[in-house]
Amino acid sequence: MARHLLTHPTGAPRSTPIGPLAHGTQPRIAVIGGSLTGCTTALLLLDAGFTDVALYEAATGVAPREGGLIGLEHPALDVLDRLGIDQSEIVAYNSETVWQVTVRGRQHIHTAQQVYPGRNTTWTLLHHALTSRLPDGVLHTGRRVTGIGTSHGQPLLAFADGSREVADLVVFADGRASTGRRLLDPSRRLRYAGYVAHRGYAPTPEASLRDFLRLEPGPGCQYNVAPIPGGLDWTFYLTCTPVDYTHHFGAPPERRMFALPHHIGPAARAHVDAHATRLLPTPHVATVHTTAVRMAVPVMDIDPPTRMAWPIGHGWAVLLGDALAPVRPHTARGANNGIEQAAGLAAALTQHRRFGADLAAALRGWQRRHLPTALAAIHQGPAIAAALGLGTPTPTPQPTSAST
Ligand SMILES: Cc1cc2nc3c(=O)[nH]c(=O)nc-3n(C[C@H](O)[C@H](O)[C@H](O)COP(=O)(O)OP(=O)(O)OC[C@H]3O[C@@H](n4cnc5c(N)ncnc54)[C@H](O)[C@@H]3O)c2cc1C
Repeated sequence: MARHLLTHPTGAPRSTPIGPLAHGTQPRIAVIGGSLTGCTTALLLLDAGFTDVALYEAATGVAPREGGLIGLEHPALDVLDRLGIDQSEIVAYNSETVWQVTVRGRQHIHTAQQVYPGRNTTWTLLHHALTSRLPDGVLHTGRRVTGIGTSHGQPLLAFADGSREVADLVVFADGRASTGRRLLDPSRRLRYAGYVAHRGYAPTPEASLRDFLRLEPGPGCQYNVAPIPGGLDWTFYLTCTPVDYTHHFGAPPERRMFALPHHIGPAARAHVDAHATRLLPTPHVATVHTTAVRMAVPVMDIDPPTRMAWPIGHGWAVLLGDALAPVRPHTARGANNGIEQAAGLAAALTQHRRFGADLAAALRGWQRRHLPTALAAIHQGPAIAAALGLGTPTPTPQPTSAST
């Protein structure tokens, strides 16, 4: 049993593998969070020959929530391809085209065509493709991790239901409100960026739109819309004070980081509808007004990470995906980062287990390759928002160097 539950693990990184993570053995790997990053990590590890992999998800159902459009770039698509997920399974509209439209007075005044280096999927399509490939017994739902400590030198996880599980490696892929980040890297806090991504799913079986359309109606807003199976997925970014956010969604942004359909009351609907009426061309106003299923995500910032891996007793814990570095949605990098980091982690662990690579060095190399991409996205978010006049201007986070 746990000697103690750590709130701030300490200890210098080791240079030699010891204990159950030794070369050639099968380590026990616990992945926390059964969304895109966690499921991808579990599948990659199983695919690489790790047999003792458990995936713990706090939500009680297989799908913690539904989700909309996600652009994946070629490296992430390639990772999924290597897992046997054919693009036809997750890409409903095979378009690389992005139409960027400047709107003034609710009229298109300028249109530019861009080519996206990837394809659009949806959270729901991708999550289904991932979970349907998990072997029976890997995914454990209704298991919320609350703490990490050690037992006889081995990392020990504590769960909300009072149970405990040991592991040699703990992979926290538990999203932007990450428990893992709170335990391992407690000084990094989320801050509300002053605007909201309002999302909607409009069932329109006859939709003529085949590409991604981005409308920029002027300072303080942006409207994106794209086809998804059975309709249109739209995201309307609007500046919003914390007080107004609380009024619309029943709790402050730091507490309600996903406003689900049942949190969207009449005030929130009226707020979005009024902005659509005032700012968007007529067909898009109709799309927004007739959308029944809506969600909202407050855009958050976080101090840049300086490391991705921590020694815990004889084992390790790592952060990846939104748990490591939630980035602003219009960078379109969050899921890409998580998938790319998962592939890099699986490669590092495989080199260690199969060929005896030094584990600390392998994790350091993994961190050195993936931290800069996460930091770049953290810095890119405020720059995009500033260009669009969205939210409250934030001081640019200072670049930091890796420490592990
Ligand atoms: C409007 C919008 C548009 C976006 N567009 C893009 C895009 O185009 N491209 C892109 O790459 N990204 C995009 N993103 C970002 C992307 O959706 C996220 O980065 C990605 O879904 C994060 O996945 P994740 O698995 O790391 O975290 P999450 O999806 O947040 O999953 C975390 C999981 O961990 C579980 N969990 C949490 N705490 C615990 C615990 N203590 N114990 C056990 N389980 C726990 C949760 O229930 C959840 O299932 C967008 C985001 C938004 C909001």
